Amino acid sequence: MTDVLPAVVVGGGQAGLAASFYLRRQGVQHVVLDAAEAPGGAWRHTWPSLRLFSPAAYSSLPGWRMPPTDGAENPDAPHVVDYLAAYEQRYDLPVRRPVHVRSVTRQDGTFVLDSDHGTWRARAVVGATGTWSRPFVPAVPGIDRFRGDQVHSARYAGPAPFAGRRVLVVGGANSGAQVAADLLPVAEVTWATLGSPRYLPDEVDGRELFRVASASLRGEGEGVGSLGDIVAVPPVRRARDAGELVATPMIARLTPDGAVAADGTEHELDAVVWCTGFRPELSWLRGLDVPRREGRVVTEGGPAVPGVPGLFLLGYGDWCGAASATLIGVGQWARQAAAEVGAGLATTA
Ligand code: FAD
Repeated sequence: MTDVLPAVVVGGGQAGLAASFYLRRQGVQHVVLDAAEAPGGAWRHTWPSLRLFSPAAYSSLPGWRMPPTDGAENPDAPHVVDYLAAYEQRYDLPVRRPVHVRSVTRQDGTFVLDSDHGTWRARAVVGATGTWSRPFVPAVPGIDRFRGDQVHSARYAGPAPFAGRRVLVVGGANSGAQVAADLLPVAEVTWATLGSPRYLPDEVDGRELFRVASASLRGEGEGVGSLGDIVAVPPVRRARDAGELVATPMIARLTPDGAVAADGTEHELDAVVWCTGFRPELSWLRGLDVPRREGRVVTEGGPAVPGVPGLFLLGYGDWCGAASATLIGVGQWARQAAAEVGAGLATTA
């Protein structure tokens, strides 16, 4: 059993690094425990054609701008991984990996973190374990009887395995649009969405999304959701404008050889790619009495968890801070969490 640390950050993706940056600034001693083998968080696992919504300068963590990319295109995932690895080194952040935190409990006001590499004790915990390890697939009737291949976008590695096949892409948000556009040149694609796809205006990218999210936080405007669901990144825009990226009604059920849509249309299929989102990876919080609703922790729209002093959550979604799940957006919440950690430690010192 180790000494009691002032703080432990669980998860070493972008949110965990931002937390560590501000904890360091606050002079709060801490470690970052990351289950991954290498830096980069979820960006290590995305598909090759994925590009960020924004140019590098607008995809930065606190303190250091992401270096520009060579070409005109927005950064790809390897560029983000390189940036996160360099960010850790630049600030000499105290990241330990691979360390998988299995559970956290509370004993005499101290958090006790059980991991596959020992036990840590801390007065504050910042959770930043992301969503990538919990891909969500809806319970569509017939899903177990479908004889073709099924993959979630979390494991989609590019179009090659789907060449010449009939592929259903399910989901009308960014992943669905991007994966469908990625597959169109090589496969026969059916893109099933709930309602018509809602594209953001073409000129809107991550900069504008961040501005709108911040304005909504100040009580101005209606938030990002009012703009639409899909950022028209160049491959999506090209496929849409060429009339190739066309949505069909959502499927109602799968059959052994295909799917039946809500309007009765039948599709013969070889594979399904589920672009149906993720859930927050919060299983390690089971040992704490944390209020939850619909798979999320109940918060007041920021990183603090009401009723559990010393516990903070970063990066999972807007429910723990508007734009908390983006590179540019997580910094403000990390700064707030670190300040509250510092204040809490000062109070109890
Ligand atoms: P992650 O990157 O998932 O990092 C979490 C880390 O915690 C991982 O290293 C994991 O191994 C570790 N971990 C998990 N469980 C444990 C545990 N129990 N113990 C210890 N460690 C653990 N954002 C943008 O800003 N711009 C974009 O253009 C953009 N495009 C996106 C496109 C797609 C398709 C997707 C899915 C997301 C996109 N995002 C974008 C959103 C966002 O930036 C990412 O989801 C981001 O990776 C979230 O960072 P994170 O640090 O919260 O989580």
